[in-house]
Amino acid sequence: MSGWSNWSGSVRAAPSAIARPKTEAELAGLVAGANKMRVAGAGHSFTPLCATDGLLLSLSEMEGALELSADHTRATAPAGWSLAKLTAALWEMGVSLINQGDVNPQALAGAIGTGTHGTGAALGSLSTTARSFRLMGPDGEITTCNARENSELFEAQRIGLGLLGVVTRIEIEVIPAYHLVETLTAMPLSEIEARWDELTAQNRHVEFWNFPHGGQALLKRLNPAAPEGELTQTTDVDESDFRLFCDLSAAMPWLTRHIQPRLVSKRLNNRRVGPAYKIFPLRSRPCGLRRWNMRSRARRALRR
Ligand SMILES: Cc1cc2nc3c(=O)[nH]c(=O)nc-3n(C[C@H](O)[C@H](O)[C@H](O)COP(=O)(O)OP(=O)(O)OC[C@H]3O[C@@H](n4cnc5c(N)ncnc54)[C@H](O)[C@@H]3O)c2cc1C
Repeated sequence: MSGWSNWSGSVRAAPSAIARPKTEAELAGLVAGANKMRVAGAGHSFTPLCATDGLLLSLSEMEGALELSADHTRATAPAGWSLAKLTAALWEMGVSLINQGDVNPQALAGAIGTGTHGTGAALGSLSTTARSFRLMGPDGEITTCNARENSELFEAQRIGLGLLGVVTRIEIEVIPAYHLVETLTAMPLSEIEARWDELTAQNRHVEFWNFPHGGQALLKRLNPAAPEGELTQTTDVDESDFRLFCDLSAAMPWLTRHIQPRLVSKRLNNRRVGPAYKIFPLRSRPCGLRRWNMRSRARRALRR
């Protein structure tokens, strides 16, 4: 027996066993023989969705290939693949996910099963791009569900929270591979507030990090772009300053109000162009800062 914890360490569990089946037949045996079980993806959820004292399954080692439909509009992938692995493999096939959030270690099934979303006023969550699921029930039997077959189960499974069975493969909608230009701009929060409708209408993606002590925010915009050669910068901002800032603020909280105004400055303005799947993830986000990427949440925050 070994313990399990989620990404942040806020949820801990002591499953009776942890299993990483490699085939559907092996998985069926485990599922049918278990009294109690949960499936974990990358454990990035903050709530105790994967916590169990029964069997904990991971599909990260399941065998299976990525398949692309003849018209290149749909791809079917092993449910336990991480978004990082999936998006890189899709890129090799000439297609991309329509949208992504700001990190990519999540399992495809975990991300879809919880409605993981990116930004973009006109874009849905990953769950809205799901087209079909291969779902194993408690008896180990497989059911396919999509808009034509078992459609109610399909709609429920779009955000199934791991309650309806173990998903082994997922068909998702994809679009031709695209590049994104990322623009980071230091901007007064009051200007973002005044221009919010314009910003969300004119950009495919907009989000910002607020630095309340400085009256400034760091605005990020992503838009489709033509390729501009190899992407050399692998993070959206140089994080060394943020790390130092976080460490100092954690050790001496009273310093925060003095450091923060200096942190967001014109030198953080940045522009880079790269394959969409490499631009979406931050790699890691600055700590201690609040992030909003939905219009209503942004408005509420701006009114405070
Ligand atoms: C640093 C960080 C950044 C994040 N950024 C974003 C973001 O930008 N946008 C956003 O919307 N969310 C974001 N999240 C939240 C994250 O995307 C979700 O919590 C997502 O569920 C995590 O995926 P996972 O693979 O870790 O799933 P887990 O947390 O492991 O599991 C989530 C659920 O999926 C179920 N599940 C997993 N695999 C299967 C399977 N094969 N069959 C059936 N059920 C399964 C589990 O049982 C559980 O109910 C972030 C989280 C972190 C820690």
